Amino acid sequence: MPDTHEAVTHAFWLAGRKATGESTLEVTSPWDGRRVGVVSVPTDAQIEEAVAAADAVREEFAATPAHVRAAALDHVSRRLAERGEEIARLISDENGKPIKWARGEVGRAVSVFRLASEEARRFNSGDAQRLDTDAGGTGRLALTRRFPRGTVLGIAPFNFPLNLSAHKVAPAIAVGTPIILKPAPATPLSALILGELLAETELPAGSWSVLTVPNDRMPALVQDERLPVISFTGSEKVGYAIKESVPLKHCTLELGGNGAAVVLSDYAAEADLDWAATRIGTFSNYQGGQSCISVQRVIADASVYEELVPKIVAAVEAQATGDPTEDATDVGPLISEDAAKRVESWVDEAVRAGAKLLTGGKREGSSYAPTVLADVPADVTLSCEEIFGPVLTLHKVADEDEAFAAVNDSKYGLQAGVFTREVRTAFRAHRALEVGGVIIGDVPSYRADQMPYGGAKRSGVGREGVRYAMEDYTYERVMVLTGL
Ligand code: NAD
Repeated sequence: MPDTHEAVTHAFWLAGRKATGESTLEVTSPWDGRRVGVVSVPTDAQIEEAVAAADAVREEFAATPAHVRAAALDHVSRRLAERGEEIARLISDENGKPIKWARGEVGRAVSVFRLASEEARRFNSGDAQRLDTDAGGTGRLALTRRFPRGTVLGIAPFNFPLNLSAHKVAPAIAVGTPIILKPAPATPLSALILGELLAETELPAGSWSVLTVPNDRMPALVQDERLPVISFTGSEKVGYAIKESVPLKHCTLELGGNGAAVVLSDYAAEADLDWAATRIGTFSNYQGGQSCISVQRVIADASVYEELVPKIVAAVEAQATGDPTEDATDVGPLISEDAAKRVESWVDEAVRAGAKLLTGGKREGSSYAPTVLADVPADVTLSCEEIFGPVLTLHKVADEDEAFAAVNDSKYGLQAGVFTREVRTAFRAHRALEVGGVIIGDVPSYRADQMPYGGAKRSGVGREGVRYAMEDYTYERVMVLTGL
């Protein structure tokens, strides 16, 4: 296959300027193996330079006026929008994401930088508390403000390479704390473009770097004491290994999930079931199922199950698979042939154990067909782990209690969707479900970038969502004034 992009070596960003190292890594399209870029890899000395520069600029950056940081964030938001189509094509090339979803991802990153610019203007206005409520506090006042914990090491996954990088970088700039962003090796190109846009701003040199560090050299960076905050999005395995290796650091972990969509008995009208099935069909396959809040499980009340199943199968079969560069494509390849083979082996294991295949179940290279299974035994891998592929399992339950118990019968707890029209049921679900987000009337895959977002149980600790990440990167420090 001919290369589509020039065979130039993409520089990484060291303390706000372009730099190249002594080795490179190749980025190839998961769809057809085309080389889509060659990326320079920093040396150990260059990594050290970036960390030292971040450390040196900490105080200066924290003192940068909010309007300067907000203007830089605004600039990046505008430029992302201006270069949107080019960046969407790059994401589609490096990740295999259908172009329509890649455009959506760029739109989300535009919002993240805009939201961060708005939050930067109002963050840390402070809080005053009178202390003269007791005799000892007479003449005293407490003022509380938030201050950065220190330089952030942001580690991003491959599945939303631009927007999940944006969720690390924009809140750091908004609070005035330096950040070193480390994109996933399979998808560094869109994060490097983000570097181009940051380089157009007046942010102090050293306040940000985008370093394409290979995984085997990450442990040293993770251990570096000048990086007290780690914001990690990725797999449970790597996330907890990081946290265990640096117990004294402040770690936010955004990890995996096996999202459930619950359809309850009151959601039985034809139009309701059509809506639920369409949303489930789309969002079990969105991004090839490689989204942490993809629908992996449908848990349906017995009274609606039989009518719902053929609608879901039809919605899944309506997904257009194929070339991610084409506008009509809904589902492209997985990130690699190995990833598709893993999904294939888990589905095959479930079928051998007695699961019923309703559609799909076929692999071609790195692509796996949208798949629906019923009667999946509880002890197979597919039932216990995050599938991270376009595969949906269907479960019939007797009532609402059984449905909520089934959602919670998982080591994960990221988000859950509950299709109900009853407000009381909505509140009950909110109370009962052990997840970071309950989406009423839609699939678990809904996320708005200002919402608090993160997991319960093995899905992680801490919250993103612009303002929540800003809180996460900072801590409250109180000042008591005496003799007033
Ligand atoms: P991954 O864990 O393989 O990699 C994530 C990042 O960690 C990459 O940048 C990788 O290079 C880096 N990494 C790998 N080894 C490392 C090490 N030893 N030290 C430090 N960094 C290391 O995950 P992935 O395959 O890129 O992403 C898929 C996973 O991410 C899925 O489990 C998915 O559910 C999860 N995810 C979670 C969220 C969320 O917000 N909860 C969002 C998207 C993806």
